[in-house]
Amino acid sequence: MADEPTKILLDESELPTHWYNVVADLPAPPPPPLHPGTHEPIGPDALAPLFPMSLIEQEVSGERYIEIPEAVREVYKLWRPSPLYRARRLEQLLDTPARIYFKYEGVSPAGSHKPNTAVPQAYYNAEAGVTKLTTETGAGQWGSALAFACAQYGIDLEVWQVAASFAQKPYRASMMRTWGARVHASPSELTEAGRAILAQDPDSPGSLGIAISEAVEAAMADEATKYALGSVLNHVLLHQTVIGEEALKQLAKVGEQPDLIVGCTGGGSNFAGLFFPFLREKLAGNMDPHILAVEPAACPSLTKGEYRYDFGDVAGMTPLMKMHTLGHDFIPDPIHAGGLRYHGMSPLISHMYELDLFEAEAIDQMTSFEAGVTFARTQGIVPAPEPTVALAAAIREAQACKETGEEKVILTALCGHGHFDMAAYDAYFAGELRDYDYPEAKVAEAMARVPVIAG
Ligand SMILES: *Cc1c(COP(=O)(O)O)cnc(C)c1O
Repeated sequence: MADEPTKILLDESELPTHWYNVVADLPAPPPPPLHPGTHEPIGPDALAPLFPMSLIEQEVSGERYIEIPEAVREVYKLWRPSPLYRARRLEQLLDTPARIYFKYEGVSPAGSHKPNTAVPQAYYNAEAGVTKLTTETGAGQWGSALAFACAQYGIDLEVWQVAASFAQKPYRASMMRTWGARVHASPSELTEAGRAILAQDPDSPGSLGIAISEAVEAAMADEATKYALGSVLNHVLLHQTVIGEEALKQLAKVGEQPDLIVGCTGGGSNFAGLFFPFLREKLAGNMDPHILAVEPAACPSLTKGEYRYDFGDVAGMTPLMKMHTLGHDFIPDPIHAGGLRYHGMSPLISHMYELDLFEAEAIDQMTSFEAGVTFARTQGIVPAPEPTVALAAAIREAQACKETGEEKVILTALCGHGHFDMAAYDAYFAGELRDYDYPEAKVAEAMARVPVIAG
């Protein structure tokens, strides 16, 4: 016991040199995005007003490995490789024979996994001569990650932050400003999309879908400005695979293979980043982990959403993407896991779910916070609300091992710390948090407005 490591570290020289593109190993690629007006498949050129060509190429790439530019690896080295921890004190509390490992992404400057993609996105934009980016942020994690990344490459950044989170977490905006970004509460008076929502509901709490509409509109209005998205898209998932590549090496160092990989899903990027490299090994017959996505019961796009073409934003400006969706204008209840409040799911993750490459379940807010507090009191790290849904599932599985005596190896991603989410913990301790039932009627209403695609 004494000589079993608590944290498993890699040298900087072991930082991955390539991102892994899972599309190369799938029996079929995900269905293509469609033009929002004509409903015809769009080519890479259609995305050119929003993204630099290098990122569009990654978006549609079938190459198995894509080299990480040296200038990106240099910035990654500010916090990567990130530690893999054995959650021994949690195991002891649970009195379980299971061994629980978590890959901790809270060591990044912004406190989550989001800089793994923010840095290359800023880099490729700078390389293409772009001087300004716009984006949206829900919980504030993505906005701060991109603000940090833009500061590395001298790019201006304007952020639309979902109004509910802008009010709940003022220090996220302070952090973005410290890195040089401008931040607006969304909906705002600055865009058509924002004004339209405010006209209907001056007190709108906002949603990711609304904030995306605002950021995309602002980018479209100015030729020198491009847009960046922090989840959902293929190139984002690609960049996050550094998480799983490192975790593979770290587990190998202690002679372990996972029996269960469990992650939280909002748009799907941290889960993808963790499990894609392990799935590659599974498909090659080298290991056989059970893979589980966990989402909040209040916004269950994978487990309750329909798999069909829908918009990525409220105003219907983005291409139509085939994904699990609750309807593009569905506004989820204000759960504190703000990063998981998105109506859709990554098209790639959705496609892989249809291929039965992993399983999914939904967990409610109170169970998640209870798991977060248990984790904080044993392991010390206060988790962001988002990964607590995965921690809840990991704890339940470890408890089941106590019954069966199974020495399961459980791997999860602790994708961010909760230092900006303490108001949510306070609300939990004050008894002010509650569970939200699946909002069936609201979803049905939103689904009625999803476009019907012929064929
Ligand atoms: C953004 C965010 C999420 C949700 O996004 P994914 O793309 O599903 O990873 C989850 N956890 C944290 C800490 C986040 O910042």
